[in-house]
Amino acid sequence: MSMRKKIIAANWKMNMTSAEAASFMEDLDLELKNFDGVEVVIVPPFTSLPKLSEIANDMPGFAIGAQNMWHEASGAYTGEVSAGMLREFFTRYVVLGHSERRTIFGESDDLINKKVKAAHAASLRPILCVGETLAERDANKHHDVLARQLKGGLAGLDADQMLDTVIAYEPVWAIGTGRTASPEQAQEAHAFIRKTLTELFDAPTAAKVRIQYGGSVKPDNAQELLHQPDIDGALVGGASLDSRSFAKIVKAGSRA
Ligand code: PEP
Repeated sequence: MSMRKKIIAANWKMNMTSAEAASFMEDLDLELKNFDGVEVVIVPPFTSLPKLSEIANDMPGFAIGAQNMWHEASGAYTGEVSAGMLREFFTRYVVLGHSERRTIFGESDDLINKKVKAAHAASLRPILCVGETLAERDANKHHDVLARQLKGGLAGLDADQMLDTVIAYEPVWAIGTGRTASPEQAQEAHAFIRKTLTELFDAPTAAKVRIQYGGSVKPDNAQELLHQPDIDGALVGGASLDSRSFAKIVKAGSRA
């Protein structure tokens, strides 16, 4: 049994109004009686954070996360939200460096690193996403990409901050494509990430950091993925929009 508590997160992306979010949580609560050993994080659009924080407050084992933030505390940054603003709604986690932010919004490792540091300064725990594209995997470059994204994204953190950071390995070719990394491919990448964390920090720290897998996780593949020794949870996109599917993935995490 791993000392690392599994963490299963629902990344809703730009989906769900706050009314839909509230009804999802009611359904999820009914589906998820009697699960333990798993931390569940719901990551809605910003607009549902107030409502969901209120609801999650009465649901032990559940936490709320945000999908992004800006690294400055306040100022002339139209359209952006700061870490302190997220904390106002008891947000505990923030997803940073998601591949959609990297590709659609052009976020660099350097910008992501500023956000990771600003999140820690506000006691928000970053979920730092890393992962290679299909071309990079086909060229056998995935280790280089992961090392660069980890080194860049985690620069300047101390070991305590690293322990309050979650890594999500999300191969870009598996996100929203229905194409999942095999359990062996995912385990190999996770072991490489842990080895890199040992080099960047130290072995005891690396052994405690939770590394989630993300990329077309569904109820029928969750159990096998979550059974791998270095896979400590899942970051779930599409399948997290349906309370039944998401509950099945959480239960798979609870059994793994
Ligand atoms: C994601 O957006 O982080 C993700 C993994 O999406 P999906 O589960 O839909 O592939």
